[in-house]
Amino acid sequence: MSGSLEQLLVVQDLDTQITQLEHRRSGLAERSGLTAAEAELASLSTEQSVLAAQRAALVAQQKELESAIGVVTERKGAIEQRMYAARGTSTRDLQAMDEEVRHLSERQGELEERELEIMVAQDPIDADLAELAERSAPIQARVDALRAEVAQEVTEIDRDLAAAAPARAAAAAELPAALAERYEKIRSRLKGTGAARLIGHRCDGCHQELSAVEVDRVRAMPADTVVTCDLCGRILVPV
Ligand SMILES: [Zn+2]
Repeated sequence: MSGSLEQLLVVQDLDTQITQLEHRRSGLAERSGLTAAEAELASLSTEQSVLAAQRAALVAQQKELESAIGVVTERKGAIEQRMYAARGTSTRDLQAMDEEVRHLSERQGELEERELEIMVAQDPIDADLAELAERSAPIQARVDALRAEVAQEVTEIDRDLAAAAPARAAAAAELPAALAERYEKIRSRLKGTGAARLIGHRCDGCHQELSAVEVDRVRAMPADTVVTCDLCGRILVPV
């Protein structure tokens, strides 16, 4: 193995290490179960929002009714006061006022009945909301714990990546320019692996066995000759 090809393997190994770290980093949330737990929590939160909106609509109706009841009660009170204070009022006027008070009382009764219905309708929603909150709590706790775990691992991976990047740059700087360029071209085409070891008859890039003739040909090349695997096209480095 020539010096530059040996150096190429150093670069490739660092690139592989970086790719693996990046892959581990991007898959952390999924593998740890965080993604699933977050999805579960989001679905509960959607249910919660629907119920909360229903509850808010009922509360708004209740407030409207309360204000209508207030108006009726006030009006009734005012008429009753006038009736008690009105010594000189004609019987006909008193009858009319009495009639209105009765009418307002009926109206008040209707409104109060509707308010009661609305309050009763809130009960099952409140129960469902309480149940949802109870179900959400442990999932939220799990999400929090997993987020912390994932964040911790991401920190560690980032530290490793931060160390690998300058090492890779330094190793790549030692490669002959033409070899580096060729490596990068193959690498971008073949899932990040541009150079592979020839271990026995096997290409470590495509994991296939080369023919005995091909292996002999590769191994017979003078040092520094760049040869590629005839199966996958990666630069092949006999070891
Ligand atoms: Zn190959």
